[in-house]
Amino acid sequence: MSFYLKRLGLEPAKDFVVLDRGPETGGAWQLRWEALRVGSAHRINDLPGMDALGISFEQADRTLPAKEVVADFYRQYEEHYGLQIVRPADVRKVFNRDLDLVVDYTDAAGTGHELVTDVVVNATGTWGSPFIPWYPGLDSFAGRHLHTSDYSTAEEFRDKSVVVVGGGTSAIGFLMELESVTNDLTWVSRRDVEFLDESEANLEARESAVAMQDEAARTGRALPSIVSGTGVPRTRRIQAAIDRGLLAAKPMFSAIEPDGVRWADGTFQKADAILWSTGFRPELRHLAPLKLREKEGGVTVGNGSSWKDARIFFAGYGPQASTIGANRAGRLIARQVVATLSNL
Ligand SMILES: Cc1cc2nc3c(=O)[nH]c(=O)nc-3n(C[C@H](O)[C@H](O)[C@H](O)COP(=O)(O)OP(=O)(O)OC[C@H]3O[C@@H](n4cnc5c(N)ncnc54)[C@H](O)[C@@H]3O)c2cc1C
Repeated sequence: MSFYLKRLGLEPAKDFVVLDRGPETGGAWQLRWEALRVGSAHRINDLPGMDALGISFEQADRTLPAKEVVADFYRQYEEHYGLQIVRPADVRKVFNRDLDLVVDYTDAAGTGHELVTDVVVNATGTWGSPFIPWYPGLDSFAGRHLHTSDYSTAEEFRDKSVVVVGGGTSAIGFLMELESVTNDLTWVSRRDVEFLDESEANLEARESAVAMQDEAARTGRALPSIVSGTGVPRTRRIQAAIDRGLLAAKPMFSAIEPDGVRWADGTFQKADAILWSTGFRPELRHLAPLKLREKEGGVTVGNGSSWKDARIFFAGYGPQASTIGANRAGRLIARQVVATLSNL
């Protein structure tokens, strides 16, 4: 967004300001787990104009954690383009005060600040809104519940019994990491996981998944899971894990008990930890005072902005929630923002 706003003639820190909870560069990537590598799940697209710096994710070091590589590339990028991002700036709420649109945020010291603005572009991603579905007995579990966003290293689970929940690439990545350290490892998924031959219908599947997200965003429904629409690419590592029997998901358990999970047939699986790789929801809490949410659970977004309040834009929301979608969104929304400002 900032790159394109600048290209359209707006000056960072003067005509527009970027607030980021941070704490460092790299967006959600800086907070992801140690073992994740660039290219280990999906492609990470370069930011627009990144070639001017002589860096590209295509040539990134795949022996380093992705969290470090992305944070480093994004830091260089911000410096090169002089984006002057304010960090850490945690936006607590966006609200109307008479005709003013006000953004309320806190700095590193917890001191509150207010900015009055004509337009807000919300590009807050999903990392801050982990989603754990409810199952009977959820609160009774005496072991450790953790979500993808809490996962750090496999070593924490040495000699433990772990149940991994979820049918996406994160769950599969965790199973492959945990396999050699845990005492026993169980995989459960709400639906059958579809493994795709990479060269095969992948693109088509991706398009239909994006269309599903787009449909939901346009009608204000809660966003569906991306993986439920795309399937999981059968990389060489994943195929090898399927061949050795690691990637056979059981159907969901029927209840959680203090020491483990109970299957529908009455049998029991002991668990020290349940790892919920059950996805994220868009992080929109700070927009609550604007009352943009529909009763269907989502926000209606068409042409990049809220149907209810055309001053609130969404970048990276729904169908745009990947590095490739976010790039495209940045360009389109920057144009719309400039058009809105010109009308004012
Ligand atoms: C486990 C996982 C793996 C993924 N792998 C890939 C992949 O390989 N390739 C790919 O293209 N996509 C991948 N994605 C999708 C991912 O969403 C994108 O890569 C990318 O992070 C989206 O960028 P973004 O800027 O929209 O969101 P984010 O990277 O989440 O950035 C949002 C920013 O907003 C800030 N923020 C949030 N709330 C506030 C607030 N209230 N106040 C101030 N700042 C705030 C955050 O601090 C953060 O810096 C993956 C997602 C997950 C969960």
